[in-house]
Amino acid sequence: MDLGLVVQMTVAAPPSAPCETVQVIAADTSSSDLEADRVSVGVLVLPGRCWRCRQVTYPIVGVLGPGGAFRPFAEVAEQLAATLPESTLREIGTGPIQQRRSRVGSYLSNGCVHCDAIQGEFPLREDLAAFRAEGGTLADLLVGEVCLPRTATT
Ligand SMILES: [Zn+2]
Repeated sequence: MDLGLVVQMTVAAPPSAPCETVQVIAADTSSSDLEADRVSVGVLVLPGRCWRCRQVTYPIVGVLGPGGAFRPFAEVAEQLAATLPESTLREIGTGPIQQRRSRVGSYLSNGCVHCDAIQGEFPLREDLAAFRAEGGTLADLLVGEVCLPRTATT
């Protein structure tokens, strides 16, 4: 019995950078001087059935910035599209963020993860309003965090 033996377990400690990603969302690692210009925001998704294929998809409805300030998807779509690779969006359960045509014109939009149909900005806002009216909180919709340029959230 080697009771004196201490087994050394080396656990890879996660980097302690303040703007590190959590959960499923991966972001590119940036140098420390760049990180000062970036801020970690929570990504909010609202599961719903696609109007076209009727399967469940998880469009991004917005982000939670510092202090819990909500920014709707339309305000950060460009930054999200530039930051989140298609593979990460697929892990979240939504399609690529790209220009899609709708009745009101073409804009940067969520797409169904199954059939890529546009998940329109206006219906999403209505669904989110209904969700909150029924007592849902934005924190319930948090799927992960991502670093965005600070200008996108201030
Ligand atoms: Zn669909």
